[in-house]
Amino acid sequence: MEKTINNPNTIKYINQKKIREIRFLTKSAFVLRFDRDNIQFVAGQHVIVGPKGALNQREYSIYSSEKNDYIEILVKEVINGNVSLQLRNCKPGDLLEVNGPFGSFRLEQKEIYFRKYFFIGTGTGISPFHSFVTSYPGFDYTIFHGIRDINDAYEKHDYDPKRYLPCVSRGNKSKYNGRVTDFLPDYPDEPDMLYYICGNSNMLYDVCKILRNKGVQSERIFTEVYF
Ligand SMILES: Cc1cc2nc3c(=O)[nH]c(=O)nc-3n(C[C@H](O)[C@H](O)[C@H](O)COP(=O)(O)OP(=O)(O)OC[C@H]3O[C@@H](n4cnc5c(N)ncnc54)[C@H](O)[C@@H]3O)c2cc1C
Repeated sequence: MEKTINNPNTIKYINQKKIREIRFLTKSAFVLRFDRDNIQFVAGQHVIVGPKGALNQREYSIYSSEKNDYIEILVKEVINGNVSLQLRNCKPGDLLEVNGPFGSFRLEQKEIYFRKYFFIGTGTGISPFHSFVTSYPGFDYTIFHGIRDINDAYEKHDYDPKRYLPCVSRGNKSKYNGRVTDFLPDYPDEPDMLYYICGNSNMLYDVCKILRNKGVQSERIFTEVYF
């Protein structure tokens, strides 16, 4: 950890982490793996990341398991995006500036093995769910993953195939051809089921509306907005 003093009254800690590996899952989506060292996190939290010395940094959910000695984030390159484009051009050995972890989008530790969880995420919004599933083997979950193309079903082998349901809006390569909001109304609710939703704000809004119409109380709904 590097300590910088810009002004005698402020001490800023910058965690510099070396990139160990970059794994491309599609042309524009990739997993960045970097050293974990002193970072203690709970699955579902995010870190703030940027290339060393860059002006801007952005939030990224942690994709890897609590058990790993490294941290991974799943990044989608945004067209004309500032930080995602810079991260795409990084190479193993380069340094990142990493702050965190932050956030309360997490599972209640005492309840994990006694509850049913329904996860709804679009695109890279699958990332915190990947961290849940790889951190807590054997808990009861269902994932609706909203994607454009079946190739965006990132590392689907990491999920139980009976529990991972890709909702594909283009093509007909899934049992669920359409958007998550097309299938959610008919999916049976259960009284103790908890809903976790992650992705863009429009999808979150539509999903919450459907859940409210199904009679799901707000205490059972948890959200993480990406943009
Ligand atoms: C808590 C939190 C966790 C996040 N976790 C992830 C994550 O795990 N993986 C990930 O890829 N992103 C994640 N994001 C989004 C991420 O922080 C950046 O916004 C994203 O990488 C774009 O940054 P940029 O600098 O490249 O684009 P910018 O130059 O900041 O913005 C470009 C434009 O693209 C829009 N935009 C932002 N994200 C997307 C997107 N995914 N698809 C389409 N348009 C977008 C913005 O609204 C903006 O208008 C998360 C955001 C938050 C708040």
